Amino acid sequence: MRVGSALAPRPSLLNWGKLPVMRGGQGRGPERPLAVVALGGHAFVRQGEAPSIEIHERCAAEISAVLVTLVERGYDLVLTHGNGPQVGQLLLQTDLTRDELPAMPLDVLVADTQGWLGYVLQQALLNQLHQPHAQRHVVTMITQVLVDAHDPAFEHPSKPVGRFLTREAAERQRDAHGWHIAEDAGRGWRRHVPSPRPHEVIQWRMIRDAALQGHIVIAAGGGGIPVVRATDGQLQGIEAVIDKDLTSSVLATAIGAGLLVILTDVPQVYVDYRQPSQRGLDAVTMQEAERLIAEGHFAAGSMGPKVEAIDAFLRHGGRRGLITDPPTLAAALEGRGGTHFVGRL
Ligand code: ADP
Ligand code: MG
Repeated sequence: MRVGSALAPRPSLLNWGKLPVMRGGQGRGPERPLAVVALGGHAFVRQGEAPSIEIHERCAAEISAVLVTLVERGYDLVLTHGNGPQVGQLLLQTDLTRDELPAMPLDVLVADTQGWLGYVLQQALLNQLHQPHAQRHVVTMITQVLVDAHDPAFEHPSKPVGRFLTREAAERQRDAHGWHIAEDAGRGWRRHVPSPRPHEVIQWRMIRDAALQGHIVIAAGGGGIPVVRATDGQLQGIEAVIDKDLTSSVLATAIGAGLLVILTDVPQVYVDYRQPSQRGLDAVTMQEAERLIAEGHFAAGSMGPKVEAIDAFLRHGGRRGLITDPPTLAAALEGRGGTHFVGRL
């Protein structure tokens, strides 16, 4: 028998009881809450570790053990994840084999990482859930995400990808392959690609339907494969990457999730981060979050898109957002730890 149908998230200090994370919908019997959980880089590899398959499998087993806490609380789950280190690895392979094999474009490499990481994660989850009390099925969906061909990001490629190069080596790549190159925070030269905003997750209906059946769905890995719609209506992959937190927000809204969890490597969001006056945020309203964004508390490219993602989710009807790290998740779901975001009170 599966845990869940009758279980709602437990009431807590932070009023999980008063603000139940329930989705809409009729005629489906007992409703389970639906959560989207975005996994950061920590889910598959740790800073400073060689990104071998063994490390990926070990990290995936660890994160799966943590995710079970949501399954036990009766959530239907959609998981998204980043792919920065892995797509970097594939770009390097592409560079090293360019003379022997046709180079694959970035959208194809993002698809590769969805398959690779989806496999590792679904295997770890299946092994974790292989217990009579918690049977669930797990599926990975290769996910395209529609972006606007006129997104201003295409004029300003801002997202560094791949390895660090000397200026001369970077210029050779630019001349040979049309790369946009720039210096990355004084650490060396890298290829930069556009990071357009996600508009629509092409497979959202299937992701929703599978999740509502109780299957755990891994989707939109790496922020999704960026595609544009040509004037004749045809979809076309492009060489860009999409922020996984922003895509998770768009997906959570589309499938009517109540809860968006962003798991990263800090237990809470802070104001005055890394300053003597640093202070952890326990619970903030959407209005407070917007004020803190405007005051510049959250770094672009790391915490910024996470808070922005949750803010957009709440503005579009989401009930709750949570940013925390894996070790804190179980306590945070009971209101002890993490940073909680709620809509208009
Ligand atoms: P992920 O792989 O989970 O997306 P990121 O590195 O993109 O991780 O984002 C998490 C990082 O954001 C933290 O490790 C932290 O250094 C940084 N950060 C920037 N501003 C803040 C803030 N205000 N509060 C907490 N962390 C912050
Ligand atoms: Mg990130």
